Amino acid sequence: MKRILVTGGAGFLGSHLCEKLLQNGNEVIAVDNFYTGSKANIAHLMGEFRFELIRHDVTFPLYLEVDEIYNLACPASPVHYQNDPVQTTKTSVHGAINLLGLAKRLNIRILQASTSEVYGDPDIHPQTEDYWGNVNPIGVRSCYDEGKRCAETLFFDYHRQHNLPIKVARIFNTYGPRMHPNDGRVVSNFIVQALSGKGITVYGDGSQTRSFCYVDDMIDGLIGLMNSETSVTGPVNIGNPVEFTISTLAEKVIELTASKSKVIFKPLPFDDPKQRQPNIQLAGDLLDWKPAIELEQGLVKTIEYFKQILPKE
Ligand code: NAD
Ligand code: UDP
Repeated sequence: MKRILVTGGAGFLGSHLCEKLLQNGNEVIAVDNFYTGSKANIAHLMGEFRFELIRHDVTFPLYLEVDEIYNLACPASPVHYQNDPVQTTKTSVHGAINLLGLAKRLNIRILQASTSEVYGDPDIHPQTEDYWGNVNPIGVRSCYDEGKRCAETLFFDYHRQHNLPIKVARIFNTYGPRMHPNDGRVVSNFIVQALSGKGITVYGDGSQTRSFCYVDDMIDGLIGLMNSETSVTGPVNIGNPVEFTISTLAEKVIELTASKSKVIFKPLPFDDPKQRQPNIQLAGDLLDWKPAIELEQGLVKTIEYFKQILPKE
Protein backbone atom coordinates (compact mmCIF):
# COMPACT_ATOMS: atom_id res chain seq x y z
CA MET A 1 0.00 0.00 0.00
CA LYS A 2 1.30 3.43 -1.00
CA ARG A 3 0.27 6.85 0.32
CA ILE A 4 -0.51 8.87 -2.80
CA LEU A 5 -1.07 12.61 -3.13
CA VAL A 6 -3.49 13.74 -5.86
CA THR A 7 -3.60 17.51 -6.38
CA GLY A 8 -6.82 18.64 -8.03
CA GLY A 9 -8.35 15.55 -6.41
CA ALA A 10 -11.85 17.05 -6.23
CA GLY A 11 -11.94 17.80 -9.95
CA PHE A 12 -13.29 15.72 -12.81
CA LEU A 13 -10.21 13.58 -13.53
CA GLY A 14 -8.83 13.86 -9.99
CA SER A 15 -11.94 12.36 -8.39
CA HIS A 16 -11.85 9.34 -10.73
CA LEU A 17 -8.14 8.93 -10.09
CA CYS A 18 -8.61 9.03 -6.28
CA GLU A 19 -11.38 6.45 -6.59
CA LYS A 20 -9.25 4.07 -8.70
CA LEU A 21 -6.17 4.43 -6.49
CA LEU A 22 -8.30 3.60 -3.43
CA GLN A 23 -9.80 0.59 -5.25
CA ASN A 24 -6.24 -0.56 -5.90
CA GLY A 25 -5.63 -0.63 -2.12
CA ASN A 26 -3.72 2.64 -1.66
CA GLU A 27 -4.06 5.47 0.82
CA VAL A 28 -5.01 8.70 -0.96
CA ILE A 29 -4.66 12.34 0.04
CA ALA A 30 -6.60 14.72 -2.22
CA VAL A 31 -5.55 18.37 -2.21
CA ASP A 32 -7.86 20.93 -3.81
CA ASN A 33 -8.85 24.60 -3.48
CA PHE A 34 -12.27 23.91 -5.09
CA TYR A 35 -11.72 26.48 -7.84
CA THR A 36 -13.47 24.21 -10.35
CA GLY A 37 -13.74 21.00 -8.33
CA SER A 38 -16.31 20.19 -5.67
CA LYS A 39 -16.76 18.09 -2.57
CA ALA A 40 -19.71 16.43 -4.32
CA ASN A 41 -17.25 14.72 -6.70
CA ILE A 42 -15.58 12.91 -3.80
CA ALA A 43 -18.44 12.76 -1.28
CA HIS A 44 -18.70 9.01 -1.85
CA LEU A 45 -15.04 8.58 -0.79
CA MET A 46 -15.26 10.63 2.40
CA GLY A 47 -16.24 7.73 4.66
CA GLU A 48 -13.24 5.68 3.53
CA PHE A 49 -10.54 5.66 6.24
CA ARG A 50 -7.77 5.47 3.59
CA PHE A 51 -8.98 8.75 2.04
CA GLU A 52 -8.18 12.27 3.24
CA LEU A 53 -9.11 15.67 1.79
CA ILE A 54 -7.09 18.85 2.32
CA ARG A 55 -8.29 22.30 1.22
CA HIS A 56 -5.15 23.94 -0.09
CA ASP A 57 -3.99 26.09 -2.99
CA VAL A 58 -0.93 24.51 -4.67
CA THR A 59 0.55 27.93 -5.40
CA PHE A 60 1.59 27.79 -1.72
CA PRO A 61 4.09 25.23 -0.38
CA LEU A 62 2.80 22.01 1.09
CA TYR A 63 4.50 19.73 3.60
CA LEU A 64 3.35 16.11 3.65
CA GLU A 65 4.88 12.64 3.80
CA VAL A 66 3.77 10.65 0.75
CA ASP A 67 5.14 7.97 -1.61
CA GLU A 68 3.91 9.35 -4.95
CA ILE A 69 2.39 12.54 -6.39
CA TYR A 70 -0.08 13.03 -9.24
CA ASN A 71 -0.20 16.76 -10.03
CA LEU A 72 -3.58 17.50 -11.59
CA ALA A 73 -4.42 20.84 -9.95
CA CYS A 74 -5.30 23.36 -12.67
CA PRO A 75 -8.60 24.45 -14.22
CA ALA A 76 -8.88 22.67 -17.57
CA SER A 77 -11.84 24.31 -19.28
CA PRO A 78 -11.04 27.39 -21.39
CA VAL A 79 -13.95 29.30 -19.80
CA HIS A 80 -12.58 28.73 -16.29
CA TYR A 81 -8.86 29.05 -16.95
CA GLN A 82 -9.44 32.33 -18.79
CA ASN A 83 -11.57 33.69 -15.95
CA ASP A 84 -8.49 34.32 -13.77
CA PRO A 85 -5.55 33.88 -16.15
CA VAL A 86 -2.87 35.07 -13.72
CA GLN A 87 -3.97 32.49 -11.17
CA THR A 88 -3.96 29.85 -13.96
CA THR A 89 -0.30 30.49 -14.79
CA LYS A 90 0.56 30.59 -11.09
CA THR A 91 -1.22 27.30 -10.50
CA SER A 92 0.78 25.57 -13.24
CA VAL A 93 4.15 27.20 -12.53
CA HIS A 94 4.22 27.83 -8.76
CA GLY A 95 2.22 24.63 -8.27
CA ALA A 96 4.84 22.64 -10.19
CA ILE A 97 7.68 24.25 -8.24
CA ASN A 98 6.02 23.49 -4.90
CA LEU A 99 5.19 19.89 -5.75
CA LEU A 100 8.54 19.20 -7.40
CA GLY A 101 10.17 20.56 -4.23
CA LEU A 102 8.11 18.16 -2.15
CA ALA A 103 8.96 15.25 -4.48
CA LYS A 104 12.65 16.17 -4.34
CA ARG A 105 12.74 16.23 -0.53
CA LEU A 106 11.08 12.82 -0.43
CA ASN A 107 12.82 11.49 -3.57
CA ILE A 108 9.53 10.12 -4.94
CA ARG A 109 7.83 9.78 -8.31
CA ILE A 110 5.78 12.71 -9.52
CA LEU A 111 3.42 12.73 -12.50
CA GLN A 112 2.40 15.91 -14.28
CA ALA A 113 -1.02 16.19 -15.94
CA SER A 114 0.20 18.08 -19.00
CA THR A 115 -1.93 18.62 -22.04
CA SER A 116 -2.30 18.45 -25.81
CA GLU A 117 -2.49 22.25 -25.56
CA VAL A 118 1.32 22.29 -25.45
CA TYR A 119 1.03 21.62 -29.21
CA GLY A 120 -1.15 24.75 -29.62
CA ASP A 121 -2.81 24.99 -33.05
CA PRO A 122 -0.72 22.17 -34.50
CA ASP A 123 0.63 22.03 -38.03
CA ILE A 124 1.78 18.43 -37.52
CA HIS A 125 -1.16 16.03 -37.58
CA PRO A 126 -1.65 13.72 -35.71
CA GLN A 127 0.55 15.08 -32.94
CA THR A 128 3.62 13.11 -31.87
CA GLU A 129 5.57 13.83 -28.70
CA ASP A 130 8.60 15.13 -30.60
CA TYR A 131 6.56 18.00 -32.10
CA TRP A 132 7.39 21.29 -30.31
CA GLY A 133 4.05 22.91 -30.98
CA ASN A 134 2.61 26.10 -32.37
CA VAL A 135 1.59 28.17 -29.37
CA ASN A 136 0.72 31.86 -29.20
CA PRO A 137 2.63 33.16 -26.15
CA ILE A 138 0.41 36.24 -25.62
CA GLY A 139 -3.12 35.11 -26.45
CA VAL A 140 -6.11 34.30 -24.26
CA ARG A 141 -5.19 30.59 -24.10
CA SER A 142 -1.55 31.29 -23.25
CA CYS A 143 -2.05 31.32 -19.47
CA TYR A 144 -2.93 27.64 -19.75
CA ASP A 145 -0.73 26.58 -22.68
CA GLU A 146 2.42 28.38 -21.59
CA GLY A 147 1.81 27.57 -17.92
CA LYS A 148 1.69 23.88 -18.81
CA ARG A 149 4.73 24.19 -21.09
CA CYS A 150 6.71 25.88 -18.32
CA ALA A 151 5.60 23.14 -15.90
CA GLU A 152 6.99 20.53 -18.34
CA THR A 153 10.27 22.49 -18.44
CA LEU A 154 10.43 22.47 -14.64
CA PHE A 155 9.75 18.74 -14.52
CA PHE A 156 12.57 17.99 -16.96
CA ASP A 157 14.98 20.37 -15.20
CA TYR A 158 14.29 18.71 -11.82
CA HIS A 159 14.90 15.40 -13.56
CA ARG A 160 18.21 16.50 -15.14
CA GLN A 161 19.43 18.60 -12.21
CA HIS A 162 18.25 16.48 -9.27
CA ASN A 163 17.70 13.10 -10.88
CA LEU A 164 14.06 13.22 -9.81
CA PRO A 165 11.87 10.38 -11.17
CA ILE A 166 9.30 12.26 -13.28
CA LYS A 167 6.39 11.22 -15.50
CA VAL A 168 4.81 13.69 -17.92
CA ALA A 169 1.45 12.77 -19.47
CA ARG A 170 0.09 14.86 -22.34
CA ILE A 171 -3.63 14.44 -21.87
CA PHE A 172 -5.95 14.89 -24.87
CA ASN A 173 -9.64 15.90 -24.55
CA THR A 174 -11.23 13.66 -21.94
CA TYR A 175 -14.89 13.49 -20.94
CA GLY A 176 -17.21 11.54 -18.68
CA PRO A 177 -19.32 11.61 -15.53
CA ARG A 178 -18.48 14.29 -12.92
CA MET A 179 -17.74 17.00 -15.45
CA HIS A 180 -19.45 20.04 -13.96
CA PRO A 181 -22.67 21.03 -15.79
CA ASN A 182 -21.18 24.54 -16.14
CA ASP A 183 -17.71 23.26 -16.99
CA GLY A 184 -17.93 24.88 -20.43
CA ARG A 185 -16.11 22.15 -22.37
CA VAL A 186 -17.76 20.84 -25.46
CA VAL A 187 -18.99 17.39 -24.41
CA SER A 188 -20.66 18.54 -21.19
CA ASN A 189 -22.05 21.68 -22.86
CA PHE A 190 -23.67 19.70 -25.68
CA ILE A 191 -25.15 17.04 -23.37
CA VAL A 192 -26.55 19.59 -20.90
CA GLN A 193 -27.99 21.65 -23.76
CA ALA A 194 -29.51 18.58 -25.44
CA LEU A 195 -31.08 17.28 -22.21
CA SER A 196 -32.56 20.66 -21.32
CA GLY A 197 -33.88 21.35 -24.84
CA LYS A 198 -31.60 24.36 -25.39
CA GLY A 199 -29.71 25.21 -28.59
CA ILE A 200 -26.50 23.23 -29.13
CA THR A 201 -23.78 25.89 -29.30
CA VAL A 202 -21.33 24.99 -32.06
CA TYR A 203 -18.50 27.52 -32.15
CA GLY A 204 -17.30 28.52 -35.62
CA ASP A 205 -18.54 26.33 -38.48
CA GLY A 206 -18.02 23.11 -36.50
CA SER A 207 -15.34 21.79 -38.85
CA GLN A 208 -12.61 21.93 -36.17
CA THR A 209 -11.70 18.51 -34.80
CA ARG A 210 -10.99 16.92 -31.42
CA SER A 211 -10.38 13.30 -30.37
CA PHE A 212 -12.32 12.34 -27.25
CA CYS A 213 -11.13 9.90 -24.59
CA TYR A 214 -13.45 8.39 -21.98
CA VAL A 215 -12.35 9.04 -18.42
CA ASP A 216 -11.83 5.37 -17.40
CA ASP A 217 -9.35 4.87 -20.25
CA MET A 218 -7.52 8.05 -19.26
CA ILE A 219 -7.20 7.00 -15.61
CA ASP A 220 -5.77 3.60 -16.65
CA GLY A 221 -3.25 5.41 -18.86
CA LEU A 222 -2.17 7.80 -16.08
CA ILE A 223 -1.73 4.99 -13.54
CA GLY A 224 0.10 2.91 -16.17
CA LEU A 225 2.51 5.78 -16.78
CA MET A 226 3.12 6.34 -13.06
CA ASN A 227 3.91 2.63 -12.61
CA SER A 228 6.12 2.36 -15.71
CA GLU A 229 9.87 1.74 -15.50
CA THR A 230 11.89 4.55 -13.92
CA SER A 231 13.59 5.29 -17.25
CA VAL A 232 10.20 6.29 -18.73
CA THR A 233 9.80 10.04 -18.16
CA GLY A 234 7.52 10.93 -21.05
CA PRO A 235 6.20 13.14 -22.36
CA VAL A 236 3.67 10.52 -23.42
CA ASN A 237 0.44 11.33 -25.28
CA ILE A 238 -2.58 9.77 -23.61
CA GLY A 239 -5.86 10.08 -25.46
CA ASN A 240 -8.21 8.42 -27.89
CA PRO A 241 -6.94 8.78 -31.48
CA VAL A 242 -10.35 8.63 -33.16
CA GLU A 243 -10.95 12.14 -34.48
CA PHE A 244 -14.34 13.85 -34.91
CA THR A 245 -15.48 17.25 -36.09
CA ILE A 246 -17.39 19.28 -33.51
CA SER A 247 -20.44 19.19 -35.83
CA THR A 248 -20.37 15.39 -35.80
CA LEU A 249 -20.17 15.41 -32.02
CA ALA A 250 -23.25 17.67 -31.92
CA GLU A 251 -25.16 15.27 -34.19
CA LYS A 252 -24.20 12.27 -32.08
CA VAL A 253 -25.27 13.94 -28.84
CA ILE A 254 -28.62 14.97 -30.35
CA GLU A 255 -29.18 11.42 -31.60
CA LEU A 256 -28.18 9.66 -28.36
CA THR A 257 -30.31 11.96 -26.19
CA ALA A 258 -33.22 11.88 -28.68
CA SER A 259 -33.29 15.65 -28.19
CA LYS A 260 -35.34 18.20 -30.11
CA SER A 261 -32.53 20.75 -29.70
CA LYS A 262 -31.17 22.43 -32.80
CA VAL A 263 -27.60 23.46 -33.50
CA ILE A 264 -26.92 27.19 -33.15
CA PHE A 265 -23.66 28.63 -34.42
CA LYS A 266 -21.59 31.00 -32.23
CA PRO A 267 -18.31 32.78 -32.97
CA LEU A 268 -15.16 30.66 -32.79
CA PRO A 269 -13.12 31.61 -29.70
CA PHE A 270 -9.77 33.27 -30.36
CA ASP A 271 -6.84 30.85 -30.98
CA ASP A 272 -9.14 27.81 -30.98
CA PRO A 273 -7.03 24.92 -32.42
CA LYS A 274 -8.37 23.72 -35.79
CA GLN A 275 -7.43 20.09 -35.34
CA ARG A 276 -6.26 17.72 -32.64
CA GLN A 277 -5.51 14.01 -32.69
CA PRO A 278 -2.95 12.13 -30.62
CA ASN A 279 -0.48 9.69 -32.04
CA ILE A 280 -0.47 7.11 -29.22
CA GLN A 281 2.20 4.77 -30.55
CA LEU A 282 4.54 5.66 -27.68
CA ALA A 283 1.93 4.91 -24.98
CA GLY A 284 1.33 1.56 -26.72
CA ASP A 285 5.04 0.73 -26.85
CA LEU A 286 6.00 1.90 -23.35
CA LEU A 287 2.84 1.27 -21.33
CA ASP A 288 1.04 -1.34 -23.41
CA TRP A 289 -1.93 1.03 -23.21
CA LYS A 290 -4.66 1.94 -25.64
CA PRO A 291 -8.19 3.22 -25.07
CA ALA A 292 -11.01 0.67 -25.09
CA ILE A 293 -14.16 2.80 -24.96
CA GLU A 294 -15.60 4.21 -28.17
CA LEU A 295 -17.18 7.65 -28.29
CA GLU A 296 -20.79 6.43 -28.46
CA GLN A 297 -20.35 4.08 -25.48
CA GLY A 298 -18.72 6.83 -23.44
CA LEU A 299 -21.36 9.38 -24.44
CA VAL A 300 -24.14 7.02 -23.31
CA LYS A 301 -22.55 6.69 -19.85
CA THR A 302 -22.00 10.45 -19.62
CA ILE A 303 -25.57 11.22 -20.73
CA GLU A 304 -26.84 8.85 -18.00
CA TYR A 305 -24.83 10.79 -15.42
CA PHE A 306 -26.18 14.15 -16.51
CA LYS A 307 -29.76 12.80 -16.57
CA GLN A 308 -29.30 11.96 -12.88
CA ILE A 309 -27.84 15.26 -11.75
CA LEU A 310 -29.74 17.80 -13.85
CA PRO A 311 -32.97 19.17 -12.36
CA LYS A 312 -36.01 17.31 -13.70
CA GLU A 313 -38.29 19.37 -15.97
P1 NAD B 1 -11.09 20.17 -13.41
O1 NAD B 1 -11.19 21.65 -13.57
O2 NAD B 1 -12.33 19.40 -13.21
O3 NAD B 1 -10.11 19.81 -12.20
C1 NAD B 1 -9.04 20.60 -11.78
C2 NAD B 1 -9.02 20.58 -10.26
O4 NAD B 1 -7.89 21.36 -9.80
C3 NAD B 1 -10.26 21.18 -9.64
O5 NAD B 1 -10.74 20.36 -8.60
C4 NAD B 1 -9.77 22.52 -9.10
O6 NAD B 1 -10.54 22.99 -8.01
C5 NAD B 1 -8.35 22.19 -8.74
N1 NAD B 1 -7.47 23.36 -8.67
C6 NAD B 1 -7.37 24.37 -9.58
N2 NAD B 1 -6.46 25.27 -9.17
C7 NAD B 1 -5.96 24.81 -7.99
C8 NAD B 1 -4.99 25.29 -7.07
N3 NAD B 1 -4.33 26.45 -7.30
N4 NAD B 1 -4.74 24.57 -5.95
C9 NAD B 1 -5.40 23.41 -5.70
N5 NAD B 1 -6.33 22.90 -6.54
C10 NAD B 1 -6.61 23.60 -7.67
O7 NAD B 1 -10.28 19.65 -14.70
P2 NAD B 1 -9.90 18.17 -15.14
O8 NAD B 1 -10.49 17.94 -16.47
O9 NAD B 1 -10.17 17.21 -14.05
O10 NAD B 1 -8.32 18.33 -15.34
C11 NAD B 1 -7.39 17.81 -14.40
C12 NAD B 1 -5.98 18.03 -14.92
O11 NAD B 1 -5.81 17.37 -16.16
C13 NAD B 1 -5.65 19.50 -15.16
O12 NAD B 1 -4.31 19.73 -14.77
C14 NAD B 1 -5.78 19.65 -16.65
O13 NAD B 1 -4.96 20.67 -17.15
C15 NAD B 1 -5.35 18.28 -17.14
N6 NAD B 1 -5.96 18.00 -18.45
C16 NAD B 1 -7.27 17.64 -18.55
C17 NAD B 1 -7.82 17.42 -19.81
C18 NAD B 1 -9.25 16.98 -20.00
O14 NAD B 1 -9.71 16.89 -21.13
N7 NAD B 1 -10.01 16.68 -18.96
C19 NAD B 1 -7.03 17.58 -20.97
C20 NAD B 1 -5.70 17.97 -20.82
C21 NAD B 1 -5.17 18.16 -19.56
N1 UDP C 1 -16.91 24.13 -28.54
C1 UDP C 1 -18.13 24.32 -29.15
N2 UDP C 1 -19.22 24.57 -28.38
C2 UDP C 1 -19.15 24.61 -27.02
C3 UDP C 1 -17.90 24.39 -26.39
C4 UDP C 1 -16.80 24.18 -27.19
O1 UDP C 1 -18.24 24.28 -30.38
O2 UDP C 1 -20.21 24.83 -26.38
C5 UDP C 1 -15.74 23.83 -29.38
C6 UDP C 1 -14.52 24.69 -29.10
O3 UDP C 1 -14.56 25.88 -29.85
C7 UDP C 1 -13.41 23.77 -29.53
C8 UDP C 1 -13.93 22.38 -29.21
O4 UDP C 1 -15.34 22.51 -29.11
O5 UDP C 1 -13.18 23.86 -30.92
C9 UDP C 1 -13.37 21.80 -27.92
O6 UDP C 1 -13.57 22.76 -26.92
P1 UDP C 1 -13.29 22.48 -25.38
O7 UDP C 1 -13.54 23.76 -24.65
O8 UDP C 1 -14.03 21.28 -24.95
O9 UDP C 1 -11.75 22.09 -25.30
P2 UDP C 1 -10.41 22.55 -26.04
O10 UDP C 1 -9.97 21.34 -26.76
O11 UDP C 1 -10.70 23.68 -26.99
O12 UDP C 1 -9.53 22.98 -24.93
